Amino acid sequence: MQQPDPKEIMILNRIVVTSVVVMFIVIIAIYLLLFSGKTGQYSDFEDYIFGTYVRVRISSTVNPSTVSKAIFNEMKRLEGKYDPHSENSVLYQLNHANGWAVVDDETLALIDLALKYARQTEGAFDPTLGRLVDTWGFSKFTQHEAEGSGFVVPTMSEIQEELVNSGYNKVAVDYVGKKVNTNGVWIDLGGMLKGYALKRAYQIAKEYDTKCHGFVETGGQIMILGPKYNKANWVIGIRDPRGQPGENVGMVYLKEGSIATSGDYERFFIVDGVRYHHIIDPKSGLPANGAISATIISSDPVVADAFSTAAFVLGEKSWLFTRTVFPKYGAEVFLVTPKGKILQTDNFRFYEQPDK
Ligand code: AMP
Ligand code: MG
Repeated sequence: MQQPDPKEIMILNRIVVTSVVVMFIVIIAIYLLLFSGKTGQYSDFEDYIFGTYVRVRISSTVNPSTVSKAIFNEMKRLEGKYDPHSENSVLYQLNHANGWAVVDDETLALIDLALKYARQTEGAFDPTLGRLVDTWGFSKFTQHEAEGSGFVVPTMSEIQEELVNSGYNKVAVDYVGKKVNTNGVWIDLGGMLKGYALKRAYQIAKEYDTKCHGFVETGGQIMILGPKYNKANWVIGIRDPRGQPGENVGMVYLKEGSIATSGDYERFFIVDGVRYHHIIDPKSGLPANGAISATIISSDPVVADAFSTAAFVLGEKSWLFTRTVFPKYGAEVFLVTPKGKILQTDNFRFYEQPDK
């Protein structure tokens, strides 16, 4: 038998060692590529939608920029489709239809949901205040544009006139023909649209990557995509309605679900020392005055949004109704009264505990 050449053995050894090292490097690179997102590297994205800044903080194995772009695009689609003041929007056409109008499935479902929230809150949430919101002028400009905008308080007779042409009971829905008849009221989904947009944002993020985590925030509402670093609570402050941004009246700890706040500081004008804001009491047609902020925690972001508007309208006077009925629909409440007193549903306290 021929003895192997020691030189050949050395070359062979070198090839084996080099292959092992290269394989090792490739495995590490693949591991880093696949799992670096899961170790908690967050990417932040921001866009201006619904008259406010929308922020996405996400950790995902799919390119986070792709996911956030898809979220922003969906939100812009909803903003355009349901802007009651843009002549091309579905809502504008429905409000100006004069009789029955055929609507698409998404619109039918949203209107059906809005009417359900109206019934559940005994009309405190009323998606048919479009004419009143318009008369008050809150549709025309955002908070940032309010100063010096020449805001005029409407007269009582103007308000009465628009009140007659409001009221969720007037809206008729034909589920077979997929038709809606507003009977003269103007539908305004402003009190729940951001919540719905956050629901869609969550669905889109999970379609890309079921294991993604982080949160999506629109002015006043947060939808959690998953716990911080996949294990910890997100710490969320409840803003002091009379403080600066960053000054809080409460703190909550959430791993999932949504938190929404309706406040009289979001869109308002002060005329002769009186604050006029964008949340209207459907009974009087005037800005609701029984609270200065209302926060809801719910697993469903649409519930959180609609019920925060409703809790604000119901205020301190109807607190017994709110604290009894809202938790039945999965909404826990934190209300700040005009004097700064805090009222909470029993289970809200659960979210104030950091180590649960
Ligand atoms: P939010 O900031 O979620 O409380 O929503 C306020 C927006 O909802 C307003 O800008 C109006 O477009 C609309 N809105 C005002 N009052 C009500 C109400 N009582 N019920 C439902 N939507 C309302
Ligand atoms: Mg709302």
